[in-house]
Amino acid sequence: MTNTKNKIYILRVAVPSPLRHTFDYLPPENVSPKNIKPGMRVLVPFGRREVVGVILEVANHSEYESTKLRLASAILDSESLLPKSILDLITWTSNYYHHPIGDVINNVLPNLLRKKPGKKSIEDYRYDAKNPQKKIKNTIQLNEDQKKAITIIKNHLNEFKAFLLDGVTGSGKTEVYLRVIAEIIAQKKQALILVPEINLTPQTIARFAERFSVKIAVFHSRLTLKERLLSWLMAKDGAAPIIIGTRSAIFTPLKNPGIIIIDEEHDLSFKQQTGLRYSARDLAVMRGKLENIPVVLGSATPSLESIYNVKRKRYVELKLPERAGNAICPSFHLVDMRSQKLKNGIAENLLIQIKKHLADGGQVLIFLNRRGFAPVLICHHCSWVAGCKHCDARLTMHQKQQHMRCHHCGAIIRIPTKCPECAGEKLLMLGAGTERIEIALRELFPDVKLTRIDRDTTKRKNSLEEILDGIHKGEYQILVGTQMLAKGHHFPNVTMVAVLNVDQSLFGFDFRSSEHLAQLVMQVAGRAGRAEKPGQVYLQTHNPHHPLLLNLINGGYVSFVNNCLEERQTARLPPYSYLALLQAEGKKQGAVLEFLTTLCSAAKSELNKTIEIFGPVPATMERKAGYFRAQLLLQSQNREALQQAINILLDNIDKLKPKNNIRWFLDIDPAELSG
Ligand code: ADP
Ligand code: ZN
Ligand code: ZN
Repeated sequence: MTNTKNKIYILRVAVPSPLRHTFDYLPPENVSPKNIKPGMRVLVPFGRREVVGVILEVANHSEYESTKLRLASAILDSESLLPKSILDLITWTSNYYHHPIGDVINNVLPNLLRKKPGKKSIEDYRYDAKNPQKKIKNTIQLNEDQKKAITIIKNHLNEFKAFLLDGVTGSGKTEVYLRVIAEIIAQKKQALILVPEINLTPQTIARFAERFSVKIAVFHSRLTLKERLLSWLMAKDGAAPIIIGTRSAIFTPLKNPGIIIIDEEHDLSFKQQTGLRYSARDLAVMRGKLENIPVVLGSATPSLESIYNVKRKRYVELKLPERAGNAICPSFHLVDMRSQKLKNGIAENLLIQIKKHLADGGQVLIFLNRRGFAPVLICHHCSWVAGCKHCDARLTMHQKQQHMRCHHCGAIIRIPTKCPECAGEKLLMLGAGTERIEIALRELFPDVKLTRIDRDTTKRKNSLEEILDGIHKGEYQILVGTQMLAKGHHFPNVTMVAVLNVDQSLFGFDFRSSEHLAQLVMQVAGRAGRAEKPGQVYLQTHNPHHPLLLNLINGGYVSFVNNCLEERQTARLPPYSYLALLQAEGKKQGAVLEFLTTLCSAAKSELNKTIEIFGPVPATMERKAGYFRAQLLLQSQNREALQQAINILLDNIDKLKPKNNIRWFLDIDPAELSG
């Protein structure tokens, strides 16, 4: 019964639903309420269905009369799956991002645990808990900077503290993580390491696996549902002392939490861009507080937010200013493209450099932030441009597949043979993507082995690993690729890096464009000359006097950051203020803007004066995948005031009940203002 000696038990449950609150249930009749713990899953009636929820709290009062509450159908676990710290993190996440708590749970529990249980119970999922047996030898002599960083972190292993490990690429940051983790393991605790994209950097995992003879639980997008659950259980039970994963691994429960490490903390992939739009980096710091453990954020190009947090003394800065071992930092050069002969978008001067490096036996990396053959197909007679039917965007021509594709919605059409407007037959392909550069370079260097790395060439399982392996064995001399090549790899024989389309990002719409460009340039540059061979980095541009470029190549990232921070402060942009973006979308063009306008005028009188509202305006790409999009930007220097304003807006949305199938979503601390 519900009442044991007049005490009443109420289960406060997070139920997968778009509603932004929890639901109260009475315990199932056949279960002693004393055995019910927060963090257990519960099967509950919801509408006409039965769904799996998570008990957040066992309370003894409810806002509703207990006669009105429904009985839970069954308790699904014999012990709590989620410790208190994770339940607190879930609640915090739901409040901070104003996101339905039931959907936060969907981001936390592995898929197999969110379904109504079939015949298999959780106890039927067994993992192999034996530690791998291997000989570990490590001959690396730490340098002074590394020693200092390690000592400082080790001095704070039993408390919350956030560190920014700021070290140029190849300075030995990973070595610092490895030494700290060794201590964590010695103390019988667990280390949670987040990396941007595991599939791109199989080497990272290999380095951890080589160094420790303990179980490592790995999370990435290519796991099967069962593998994912087994990794999750190993983390939760404490069977795996090391947990490595991408963004969503931040919610993994740990039995003995010891440290959280975010590698490449500036990376955009830590921000989820759909559904629950959370930043795994920011949640890591919050989680560190809740668990009372240290958090290390590492990067060669830290985000302005993290640098600002160092300035505000919220984070402790640890610096590794020099490359480890004998490696020397690369030198930077601008290639002025103006009035030069261009071959498929490559300047003559640059070709000369490529030849030189190849002749000297070096590998050359050509970076271009754009896939496909050509981004524009234009009619030579009437200037018609091939565009996507569903988006305000151009179609990219892909030569190998012989089609044109929209990179925003995935739509595909056949390559037109004549202009649909004027029937003219001369259609020109403007601009170059990686596919075109590859073809051009193969023609220019017929005897040189070349490989291309982008999403088109690495779709097949293991294809990326094979290409990377080939690069390391020296099978290729020229590497052409997109940002997939920029991240984390260690290519000791690359002596030259060329970035072809710097200009594209110099004039971006977003206030973060320049920050991202600087990070990208430094990251790509970081692939060069990582071993004994010094590297050279060439940036092709039509704007060789652009202050941002000059600042970056002459003063380095630090000097760039200082300028950028000044600009942000003047403009009162993050990190000097906080932003929230409310986006709405619908099939009817006018209706979306109208909805936001009505909302604004309804809410305006209630809003605090410290909030600035920009918009509503149509999104930069107004139409995407058939939806018209508009947005409202909220800005404030006061986080509390911003959160309050959002609550007011949300109340008003509830009252307005958007019609015309308008969907809306909120993005707190948006990484990009124009999605
Ligand atoms: P980061 O993570 O900062 O890019 P890594 O830790 O990957 O740098 O180090 C780059 C390379 O230098 C690796 O091959 C690593 O084994 C080596 N290395 C790291 N620390 C040292 C050191 N103190 N002496 C010599 N080599 C080192
Ligand atoms: Zn035409
Ligand atoms: Zn499209």
